[in-house]
Amino acid sequence: MRTADYIALEDRYGAKNYLPLDVVLTRGDGVWVYDVEGNKYLDCLSSYSAVNQGHCHPRILQALVDQAQKLTLTSRAFRNDRLGEFYKVLCETTGYEMTLPMNTGAEAVETAIKAARKWGYRVKQVEQDKAEIIVCEGNFHGRTTTIVGFSSEPQYREDFGPFTPGFVLIPYGDAAALEAAITPNTVAFLVEPIQGEGGVIVPPDGYLRAVRDICNRHNILFMADEIQTGLGRTGKLFACDHENVRPDVMIVGKALSGGFYPVSAVLSSREILGLFRPGDHGSTFGGNPLGAAVAATALSVLVDEGMIENAARLGQYFQERLAKIPSPYVKEVRGKGLLIGVELKPEAGGARRFCEALQTRGILAKETHTHIIRFAPPLVITRQEIDWALEHITAVLTA
Ligand SMILES: *Cc1c(COP(=O)(O)O)cnc(C)c1O
Repeated sequence: MRTADYIALEDRYGAKNYLPLDVVLTRGDGVWVYDVEGNKYLDCLSSYSAVNQGHCHPRILQALVDQAQKLTLTSRAFRNDRLGEFYKVLCETTGYEMTLPMNTGAEAVETAIKAARKWGYRVKQVEQDKAEIIVCEGNFHGRTTTIVGFSSEPQYREDFGPFTPGFVLIPYGDAAALEAAITPNTVAFLVEPIQGEGGVIVPPDGYLRAVRDICNRHNILFMADEIQTGLGRTGKLFACDHENVRPDVMIVGKALSGGFYPVSAVLSSREILGLFRPGDHGSTFGGNPLGAAVAATALSVLVDEGMIENAARLGQYFQERLAKIPSPYVKEVRGKGLLIGVELKPEAGGARRFCEALQTRGILAKETHTHIIRFAPPLVITRQEIDWALEHITAVLTA
């Protein structure tokens, strides 16, 4: 089969809830992916930062294969011999006391919402069913009905209501707006330290410190969604580390499994996660031995192989070089580490055509929010590979 045949087959049976670039990939290795025609591309999306460790990392692959041959799923009705080790690696790497494993990012966000509400009722003594969680305009926390219910993006919500009450939207990056929105019923503030899907929006310096301080003063939980920004992407383990702040609740997913398998988790204190009792919450696949083995290895790989430092060093280099491209189309280059957004001027005619031009030159990047191209390659990228990419990006942005 050729590219057109694969596309026709997919479109014949599949719901069209995505508009992918018409490239049909069949193999991946590190920062490179290969299509069914034998073309090679530099992956500048990394599956929305799920493959920070690079495609098909050999150590993670080995952990997957070894575990798949032994035991894959027990459900949590029984214990398995991989879960404790995964918890230990995750908690020791991140410095949190406790964790609750799920599968997808959205499930982990839902879990964090439940934890915050339970903490609000049990500890803060908010009246039943009155808990409020403050969220930001431009947020992306996933696609469940509760989560899209507090999105500010009309398309994410349209035709999917009625929605879960109890969420309050405020502008992103505005600490004063957070303080003003707090009521006695506020239990938590849920925020991305950099808005990834929102267009790589970096809040003002000091924002996360101010948020930490406000949450302390008003006794509300600071919940960071680092599903995209976490695990090395921005050049630190967590994007919150750039301001040395520690959220009360940390949500991770995506690169937690190096792209092999859906694994997500909520990290927090004993005071908060210890509130869950048997039967309060669960997931058939959450915490399964295959996911646990994969995630424990994916985390070790990230740390052992210096990927976080590489993201810091080469991210800064990539961003500086992108900013120097003399393009008539570019409005701004921004980001942290290897999470970089290039915002185009409105008159550039949208980012899609630039992404299509990059595709013909062997670079896969995806537009976000019409005018922004995101460059987020796997964290194993080398300076030579970035230099190669810059030649082509320069050609496309100056054509
Ligand atoms: C991708 C993402 C999610 C949702 O994760 P899924 O695994 O797609 O459910 C949530 N929050 C952020 C910040 C994300 O980037």
